[in-house]
Amino acid sequence: MKIPFSKIDCSGKELDYIKEVIDSGWLTYGGKSKEFEDIFSRIVDAKHAMAVNSCTAALHLALDALGIKSGDKVFVPTWTFTASAEVISYFDAVPIFLDVDYSTGLLTPEIIQKAIIDHPDTKAIIVVHYAGQSAQMFSDNNDKGILDLCNSAGIRIIEDAAHAFPTKCDNHFIGSIGDITCFSFYANKTITTGEGGMVTTQNDEIADRIKTMRLHGINKDAWNRYTSSPQSWEYDIVDAGFKYNTTDLSSAIGLAQLERYQEMRDLRQEIAEFYLDNLKDIKCLDLPKIEVPLENHSWHIFNLVLNDKAKIKREELLHYLQEKGIGFSVHYKPLHRMTYYRKTFGLSNDNFPNAERLWKGCFSLPIYPLLTIDERQYIIKSLREFLV
Ligand SMILES: *Cc1c(COP(=O)(O)O)cnc(C)c1O
Repeated sequence: MKIPFSKIDCSGKELDYIKEVIDSGWLTYGGKSKEFEDIFSRIVDAKHAMAVNSCTAALHLALDALGIKSGDKVFVPTWTFTASAEVISYFDAVPIFLDVDYSTGLLTPEIIQKAIIDHPDTKAIIVVHYAGQSAQMFSDNNDKGILDLCNSAGIRIIEDAAHAFPTKCDNHFIGSIGDITCFSFYANKTITTGEGGMVTTQNDEIADRIKTMRLHGINKDAWNRYTSSPQSWEYDIVDAGFKYNTTDLSSAIGLAQLERYQEMRDLRQEIAEFYLDNLKDIKCLDLPKIEVPLENHSWHIFNLVLNDKAKIKREELLHYLQEKGIGFSVHYKPLHRMTYYRKTFGLSNDNFPNAERLWKGCFSLPIYPLLTIDERQYIIKSLREFLV
């Protein structure tokens, strides 16, 4: 068997919609992208949704819209992809790296509360909904959630939802909660446009700023300029903006993907339940802890940890999976171990005990709708043969 770690599923109306775009004669940001934004905003219950060309662009625009400046402190977990933190460096602002909970890989209210005591002057936080499970955003009877905690400390909230479409926190979709939420439609994410992203917000001023800055700081978008009647050629530049718009070709793929997002999520949950069920008795594996109803999870990454009870090293296991033809990945080598962040911000492994423990044993298994029943069984059988 040869099982790739990830496989795209474009078996819906992707080609039909791409043909419509090509036949229309308008390839870049236009009607199809607006339709994509409209439908996305309705799904996640956001007042505004703005399609861009990546989640990294979305995060950059989000920090800009919150007015982040040189020297400002921004909290970010060490347990994430570099994009969550590199955008802070774009502003010459200061990322304050936080450890995460061992069992979920998520930031928790407790971790954030401690960080606020050490850094009360922090301007913003980037919350990553790791693997597709929401962090604890809302307060319950006993504990303050991340929203209340950050609001009372004057910290603005950006959610990195690159793993988290369609994810819910309690009964609310991620995308409708914090100040700004950023999604990714990169090739291997839960829905894809090849490359792409989306920013959502409930705030009109933030939305205006993002719409302007995603297209050069122009005060109206090109599509409106060319298609309004009478034609109006004149525009103004209100700031030094970026070239972060998406295209109608990408949005055509996105629209087809949105027709199947729920079905694809449900199929990933089936795989997750199969893995959880068939691996739960293996003493040397720590399974991901699911603190939400299974239906609220988008199941983007299935991460396991080979713990201290194992008689082998993680590298030996990965070598074995390689030999068995089973694709795997490691999410993540934490940012505090990456040369740039370690050197620039003087980070030490000792300050991130949970991320260190995760990192030493973690690996992720394939989880995508096109993974066949035979493949799932082969993965489990192979793992059990090696570990039990
Ligand atoms: C993939 C990813 C991103 C970046 O997404 P792009 O669309 O490729 O820019 C950001 N954050 C996390 C957590 C990711 O996994």
